[in-house]
Amino acid sequence: MKQIPQTDPIAEYLRLVSAIKCHVEERIELGFSDLPVSGKSGKHRGPDSPVVYESMEDIRIAIENCRACPLYKTRTNIVFGTGNEEARLVFVGEAPGADEDKQGQPFVGRAGQKLTQIIEAIGLSRPEVYIANVLKCRPPGNRNPLPDEIKACEPYLIAQLRLIKPRVICALGTFAAQTLLRTTQSISRLRGRFHTYHGIKLMPTYHPAYLLRNPKFKRNVWEDVQKVRAEYDRE
Ligand code: URA
Repeated sequence: MKQIPQTDPIAEYLRLVSAIKCHVEERIELGFSDLPVSGKSGKHRGPDSPVVYESMEDIRIAIENCRACPLYKTRTNIVFGTGNEEARLVFVGEAPGADEDKQGQPFVGRAGQKLTQIIEAIGLSRPEVYIANVLKCRPPGNRNPLPDEIKACEPYLIAQLRLIKPRVICALGTFAAQTLLRTTQSISRLRGRFHTYHGIKLMPTYHPAYLLRNPKFKRNVWEDVQKVRAEYDRE
C-alpha cells in the first residue's frame, strides 16, 4: 500500500506563522496599518462585492474615515468627485495631484483646464457630467498608485458609479484605463473603441496631461469623445 507522507503539525504551524509574519512585515514596510479583509465581516469587501452605500454622502464619509491604505496620512483633502450625481457621462482620472489635494476637487490644475475644453468640445459643461478618480487621495510626489492602494480605493469608485448609473464612462489615460479594464494593454491600443466596466460602456482616451505634452494626439481624443457623445445621446 502507498504510504501517505505525514506532515508534522508543529512544523506546519511554524511554517504558517512565519509566512504570516513575513506578510505583516511587508505591509508595515509599505506603510499599511491594517490587513485586507475578505468575507462579509470587513468594512471593505473588495471590488467584486463592494459595500452597498445608500448615498454619495455615505461614500464620502467612508472615504473621510478610510484607513485602508497609507495615503490618508499624507493627503491634505480627499478628492471625492464633482458634478452631476445623475450624469449620463462620467470621466475617470488617475489620482489627485498637488492642486487637487489642496482644493479637494478633481482636475483643477492645468490638466483640469484641458479636460474642461474636452468636455466643452462635445457640447457639455463640467456641471452636467461627473468627474472622479480611481484614487481619492494623492500619492506623495505624484508617484504612480500602488496595486494595494487601487485595491483599497476602487470599491469607492464602483459605489459612486452604482449610484450615478451613467450611460457611458470616459477613462482618462493609461492608468485609469488599465486599472478599470484589468489589462496591461497600452492606451494607444485600448482607445478608440468601447469596452465594458461593470456593465457600463467605457471609452479609454489619452489623459489631458499627456495631451498637453503631446498635442499631436488631439485629433485622437476628439474622435474618441465624439463617440462618447454619440453614446451619450443614444436613446
Ligand atoms: N490627474 C488626474 O488623473 N486626476 C486629477 O484629478 C488631476 C490630474
